[in-house]
Amino acid sequence: MKPLTEQEIRAAFVNCTKGEAKRLSVPRDLADRPWQDLDYLGWRDPQAPGRACLVAELDGRPRALVLRSPGHASQRMRRSMCSICLTGHDGGVSLMVAPKAGRAGQQGDSVGAYLCSDLACSLYVRGRKDAGAGARLTETLTVEEKIERTVANLAAFVAKVTA
Ligand SMILES: [Zn+2]
Repeated sequence: MKPLTEQEIRAAFVNCTKGEAKRLSVPRDLADRPWQDLDYLGWRDPQAPGRACLVAELDGRPRALVLRSPGHASQRMRRSMCSICLTGHDGGVSLMVAPKAGRAGQQGDSVGAYLCSDLACSLYVRGRKDAGAGARLTETLTVEEKIERTVANLAAFVAKVTA
């Protein structure tokens, strides 16, 4: 994806207020992120361990989500699969809950998905990060096809949040 600035990221949040988007922690090392290998940039908020964010470029514009991650300690022993990149991990998957955009979110509506705990789907898909021994599913898809699938799953997730 195209590199984004902090300002662009803050302006892209769809499921929190403008004030919250201003206060969220955005990574300081944006210039050093491997943008060309990212389908989305995801990070955990160092100031709020139960909070994560992600930003993707969908239909030509950046869309960012705030996610609540209740933590994955209890799931650590279970092998599970990320619903975005379909990487299987030995415990590296967390339930992430996104409040819905707009009034629905203010009334408590949310959408949940199991995501790679480190939000590094793009790197697993490209083989730049190893998900552990349990991850080696035999898949006949090419990397390009896996990237397409990841982007499609992510777009579907974002669409559910903004619906
Ligand atoms: Zn993933």
